[in-house]
Amino acid sequence: MKTYRYPFFPGPTSVSENVLHVGLTNFGSADVEPEFLDLYKKCVIDLQKILNTKSDVVIMTGEGMLVLWSGLKSCLEPGDKVLAISTGIFGTGIGEMAKSIGCEVKTIEFPYDCSFEDHFLIEKTIAEFKPKMITAVHCETPSGILNDLTILGKLKKMYKVPLFYVDAVASVGAVHINADKHNIDLCLGGSQKALSVPANSCFMSVSDKAWSIIEEVGYQGYDALLPFKDVKTTGFFPYTPSWVNIAQLYQSTQNIFVEGFENVVKRHENCSKNVIKKLKEAGIKLFPRDEKYSSPTVTAAYIPDGFTWEEYDKMMREKGIVFGGNYGELEGKVFRIGHMGTQTNFEELCLF
Ligand SMILES: *Cc1c(COP(=O)(O)O)cnc(C)c1O
Repeated sequence: MKTYRYPFFPGPTSVSENVLHVGLTNFGSADVEPEFLDLYKKCVIDLQKILNTKSDVVIMTGEGMLVLWSGLKSCLEPGDKVLAISTGIFGTGIGEMAKSIGCEVKTIEFPYDCSFEDHFLIEKTIAEFKPKMITAVHCETPSGILNDLTILGKLKKMYKVPLFYVDAVASVGAVHINADKHNIDLCLGGSQKALSVPANSCFMSVSDKAWSIIEEVGYQGYDALLPFKDVKTTGFFPYTPSWVNIAQLYQSTQNIFVEGFENVVKRHENCSKNVIKKLKEAGIKLFPRDEKYSSPTVTAAYIPDGFTWEEYDKMMREKGIVFGGNYGELEGKVFRIGHMGTQTNFEELCLF
């Protein structure tokens, strides 16, 4: 396996030194040792702080996509109406996932290089379509867009939409997330982006309303939320949780509080500004149509003139630098610089 001096891949990110160290411990059985449940509960409290929520938080063993599926399958039944608000590949993809469950899905797809600007269209669609769930993505990693969730949160409340589902996998732990203020029922995060933990756990906040719908739906499966409802009091998990994963996640939330959440947020904002400045200096065009849409965790830019992605990627790798390519309609046109978690040391880097 090759490791690079400057990994700027937009997830999985390089793992923090002390998080790696946690992985050297030979943990006992999470099913029988009471310390595990204490650790799980402490980790839940940390994540509640990071998500700014009083709602319950469930932590699962698995990569980020697990919570994306879990939140949908646990709350939705065939025929349920879902409004997917999209500004990118994940936003549209979540709508497709809901369709595969048999839901009636309406997707409002905005151009991938900006945020959701047409509030009137969103409001009109909510009023007419009356969805059971609105889905949105906080940071659209492939297009490097950070969406302001304020308006969707307001509309969800105003129109009494039962569920607001937000994929915050690529922003959690680096950007302010206000799950309660924005009336988010299911706020989803993963370990492998700004938290700089291996891709081994994921989590989501679950509001009281969401729990009552989850009980009604009664979905059963490896990815089901329902069996997690009482784990904090009973200690009975639906399958053996991976203790080392939770220990690594907890180390990373502790790292954030030791640095100070405000400092972490500023570090990402400064890095993003610096990256955008360097792109400009190198004559590389930013993908978002305006800097104001750019996420503090990832910058998307057009592949420099005269290069294919393969050529540019090869040239950068020879310098020990790894960026991310892209998928779908952005493949071969737009590349991504992942500057989240441990990966904000961009100062000395040269883009050419
Ligand atoms: C990374 C990410 C996920 C998890 O998906 P993987 O690509 O499989 O890691 C989900 N949503 C967003 C917005 C992400 O950036």
